[in-house]
Amino acid sequence: MLKIENLQASIDDKSILKGLNLEVKAGEVHAIMGPNGAGKSTLANIIAGKEDYEVTAGTIELNGEDISELAPEERAHNGVFLSFQYPVEIPGVSVTNFIKTAINETRKAKGLEDMPAKDMLKMIREKSELLEIDRKFLSRSLNEGFSGGEKKRNEIFQMAMLEPKLAILDETDSGLDIDALRIVANGVNKLKSKDNAVIVITHYQRLLDYIVPDFVHVLHDGKIVKSGDASLALELEAKGYDWIKQELV
Ligand code: ADP
Ligand code: MG
Ligand code: MG
Repeated sequence: MLKIENLQASIDDKSILKGLNLEVKAGEVHAIMGPNGAGKSTLANIIAGKEDYEVTAGTIELNGEDISELAPEERAHNGVFLSFQYPVEIPGVSVTNFIKTAINETRKAKGLEDMPAKDMLKMIREKSELLEIDRKFLSRSLNEGFSGGEKKRNEIFQMAMLEPKLAILDETDSGLDIDALRIVANGVNKLKSKDNAVIVITHYQRLLDYIVPDFVHVLHDGKIVKSGDASLALELEAKGYDWIKQELV
């Protein structure tokens, strides 16, 4: 599904990613952990195609196709989803209307007509039931006065509706409470399938109490320096990151 080789990237001439390799197959959940400033969010943003970064070397392939020259929208249309893409408040535009527009834009880019209203409603009903999202929430204005948990609920709902091939959840918010963590975890667990893949980026082991990843990677100083199974996250929780830095010396 995703294959990243020797990715190097910088921002304002400061080198951030320094030769990163990562392979994610369909059906897998990968967790990327690592100390603050390691480059986790940079990696997420570069996969999604945010333009603030300069990719200086390496390749990013999605299903065998090089996506590194594609615009963010094109990557989204190819099935890449990055959380917090739409953190803006849009008064007067409901959660539902926003996602309807996003879905129809994706279809338009593929030369398809709008999804018939009936099918859209059915999908909204199914996905909101699956994620236990109530109707009142769906008619609220996008992000307006949303709590942390509600922002997460919206994000997971967007993910459910867009059915991405590759979902990247960057849990940058250190203020995530248990409620929000559970919403994210529950969403990932319910939406994962043999045809999609999920990358969960987190600074905290807590989230991985609820999502059991197939692989855990440690990103340190712009590279993945260690990979393992879910037990690696527990080891990090117990021992911190310093022992990994020492192993590297
Ligand atoms: P993480 O998500 O692992 O905490 P980031 O990817 O956010 O790390 O940041 C990696 C490094 O890149 C940090 O040193 C950070 O200061 C720097 N950086 C990230 N984004 C920017 C930016 N827009 N402008 C300048 N420096 C940035
Ligand atoms: Mg950070
Ligand atoms: Mg970050």
